Amino acid sequence: MSLALPILDDQPQRPTFARGPRSLDAVKLLRISLTDRCNLRCLYCMPDEGMTFAPSDDVLSADHVVAVAAAARSAGVTHFKLTGGEPTLRTDLEDIVRRLAALKPVELSMTTNGLKLGRGGLAQRLAHAGLDRVTVSLDALDEPTFAQVTGGRGFKLADVWRGLDAAQAAGLGRLKLNVVVIGGVNNDQVAQFAALTHTRPWTVRFIEYMPLGESHLTHRGADAFTVDNADIRAAITAEHGPLEPLTRDDEPGVGPAEIYRLRVNGAPAPGRLGFISAMSQPFCETCNRLRLTATGQLRACLFDGGEVDLMPTLRTTDPRDLASNPSALQALMATCVSQKPEVHSGRGNRAMSQLGG
Ligand code: SAM
Ligand code: SF4
Repeated sequence: MSLALPILDDQPQRPTFARGPRSLDAVKLLRISLTDRCNLRCLYCMPDEGMTFAPSDDVLSADHVVAVAAAARSAGVTHFKLTGGEPTLRTDLEDIVRRLAALKPVELSMTTNGLKLGRGGLAQRLAHAGLDRVTVSLDALDEPTFAQVTGGRGFKLADVWRGLDAAQAAGLGRLKLNVVVIGGVNNDQVAQFAALTHTRPWTVRFIEYMPLGESHLTHRGADAFTVDNADIRAAITAEHGPLEPLTRDDEPGVGPAEIYRLRVNGAPAPGRLGFISAMSQPFCETCNRLRLTATGQLRACLFDGGEVDLMPTLRTTDPRDLASNPSALQALMATCVSQKPEVHSGRGNRAMSQLGG
């Protein structure tokens, strides 16, 4: 397993960009974190103990979420992604989905751990409210590894499968599965995950673990847990044969994954494989996103750099005025994007649960 990651070099050599990703025109996706709370404690996302969450008074209201999304939409943002923490913990999720769908984005999607999708008809209700698609995070295909990766919170793998089935039955788009590969924990399951695409029209995406914030893994010498996606591709090829590269044209969303397909009995498999290689092959020069944290900060980068606080503006302006005059929020968005680093640092100051992935 190669762990020689270019991003960890002292002097990474990357293309420089003067505008491109630093222009608001380049932003196509707003990732909206609805809460920093979660019902799981994934090893790569949160520490075992001592996790502190934002007081509820500091978390964006539905009105504020909609105001920021509307400003982004009129600045040319086409895609919204709901995330967290765990977005399904928000009791006003359906209402938020309905109001964001009314802004007529090209796509409104959500990333979730899937546990609640299969309960109380949630997947169906969200589809009804206007959600187009979900991505479900799942890092293990057996119960002991699932319990290990998710921090032993008592949930079962079957709860996630029930959520996936419900999402599919509700017509929530072509499903994507996010798999964070962790060296020594679940890297022996990548071929099994890839085999899901033999029978299902899903995109299974392998994500290189990124050392962000304080988590179980960062507390244990994070670098040792990142597995280079080239090694994952090699393991899949050894088990299932060659990977056929595909263009992104037919892939939902505007994500950074490189897309491939396997063959099954000589025919193209119905599903696809995606590889998100932020550590071994940073794609900063093609970045097309902004992130809104649950407490109202805009972030240009997952790692360090580019944070602009919207709260002073949101707290002091009537939401109706924000809706009729989005220029103040758009100026803050442009400032945030202008702060994108040339290439991301090797270590991020905030956890994914705070940034929304
Ligand atoms: N709770 C939801 C979920 O797990 O899908 C949404 C929020 S989660 C922060 C968004 C995505 O970030 C998930 O797919 C998760 O696996 C991924 N993620 C979290 N921490 C990560 C890390 N340190 N490195 C790579 N991916 C990470
Ligand atoms: Fe929760 Fe998602 Fe973080 Fe796991 S990755 S702890 S499900 S926010």
